[in-house]
Amino acid sequence: MTDVDLAVVGAGPAGLSAAAAASESGLSVALVDAGNQFGGQFWRHPDEAQLAAFDGDESTGHHHWARFRALRDRARRAASRGRLRYLPGRHVWRADETGDGVRLRTTVVAGADDLRPEARAVSARRLIVATGAYDRQLPIPGWTTPGVMAAGGVQALLKAHQVSAGSRAVVAGTGPFLMSVAAGLVNAGVEVVAICEANALTRWAATPWRAVQEPGKLIEGVEYAGAFVRHRVPLRTRTAVTRIEGASRVERVVMQKLDRDGAPRPGTERTIDVDLVALGWGFTPQLELPIALGLATRVDVDGSLVVEVDADQRTSSPRVYAAGETTGIGGAVQSCAEGELAAVTACADLGHPVPGASAARLRRRIARGRRFAVGMHLASPVPSGWDAWLEPSTIVCRCEEVTAAEIDETVGALGADDARDVRVTARPGMGWCQGRVCGFPLSKLVERRTGCGARAGDLESLANRPLASPIRLAEIADLGPQ
Ligand SMILES: Cc1cc2nc3c(=O)[nH]c(=O)nc-3n(C[C@H](O)[C@H](O)[C@H](O)COP(=O)(O)OP(=O)(O)OC[C@H]3O[C@@H](n4cnc5c(N)ncnc54)[C@H](O)[C@@H]3O)c2cc1C
Repeated sequence: MTDVDLAVVGAGPAGLSAAAAASESGLSVALVDAGNQFGGQFWRHPDEAQLAAFDGDESTGHHHWARFRALRDRARRAASRGRLRYLPGRHVWRADETGDGVRLRTTVVAGADDLRPEARAVSARRLIVATGAYDRQLPIPGWTTPGVMAAGGVQALLKAHQVSAGSRAVVAGTGPFLMSVAAGLVNAGVEVVAICEANALTRWAATPWRAVQEPGKLIEGVEYAGAFVRHRVPLRTRTAVTRIEGASRVERVVMQKLDRDGAPRPGTERTIDVDLVALGWGFTPQLELPIALGLATRVDVDGSLVVEVDADQRTSSPRVYAAGETTGIGGAVQSCAEGELAAVTACADLGHPVPGASAARLRRRIARGRRFAVGMHLASPVPSGWDAWLEPSTIVCRCEEVTAAEIDETVGALGADDARDVRVTARPGMGWCQGRVCGFPLSKLVERRTGCGARAGDLESLANRPLASPIRLAEIADLGPQ
């Protein structure tokens, strides 16, 4: 068992910032990450071992790459001095509070586990949860056809493998991330025939004060706009992909203008041939560990369940801190600041102040990022009328193949009155992905049908996964009597 002062789960912008700061303060740190190298989602990049030449330019479209290299090098130095134990390619599948700290159980993500059973556990006095988020999806007729992908998945293929998932693409959904994905695709030589943004860009004008909180994002936006003009990529606002067609893979999509409620406007259909559809409706925080630990949660402005933290990243448990997108979707720079502040707080709580750290400066940075994030959520909501494009046969839960009609029937005829009821009755969210994909649309459909908004408790029941990742039965057997 690794025994350390501080365990950090996740080596993305938040966790890497936290681990670098805490290990430099004199704490012993264990950094566990499901990825095989530092970076998380934002700084996902080619395998450094195989690509020795990959050393710093922004050729795979990374922003803030110099910051990544600095953090990675600090973490490597800490590891070489024995201050940081880095456990890549390992999933924390369970977290428990013990009398005086926290115990994590880890499993290998792929291949055979080369750690002895006792070395797979990490025991720490404090824990920082920085597990990030995953893509948020809405079902569309035809969305299970091969060639339809989550926008984040398309981006991950580009960033890690320089692979384009198609040659003629439409990018659709809502939010600034669509721009990033479309720009990555055009730069990789893909013909992007349209970006369909469900909301009007003028929504940003309603909160100009929030929009200017992050000038760096505005500059990124201008860069993307330049790329779209050069490559003649049309940006269609208040437009959604409402149907996807194709026999064995995607052949075409139907785009439609949306009305004020976000429902498709009849007569505005436009069909366009594509072989790739990248869909993104924002992100959903990854909360298996916080929920297993019983941490307090709240519903954020974008309707996501997030971990509730105070101004110093403390959660409702005195031994656990949360940082990055687990506390609300806000982007990589915000995640870095939260990770650093969580480390500063944990170090102070353990009597090891971080030299040169300024908690006040970080708090101000985070407050500014938060103001921007709220503006982003208000400008890019999931349109309330989205379910008007569903057909009775549209699959909502892909794992258990539960259709929109079955969900309607469970609420209407069988009287289920919350998402949990629907889940246990009709089985959406009970399959392999455990509701990671269908949890959000399911909660929204039930909300529309019952007229009752989802509360944190309802969303917690959808995100409650006692095993945070699949494990082998042998790993349970290895635990021995509890
Ligand atoms: C697929 C995808 C692609 C994205 N690409 C971009 C992009 O190109 N540009 C952009 O601006 N934003 C992107 N985002 C948004 C992005 O998540 C953030 O802005 C930023 O990376 C958040 O940083 P973070 O440290 O909070 O989390 P992340 O970067 O998500 O890092 C979390 C890390 O925790 C690990 N992890 C999670 N659970 C466990 C566990 N139980 N055990 C061990 N490790 C665990 C993950 O593998 C990951 O490495 C993407 C999001 C997704 C889901």
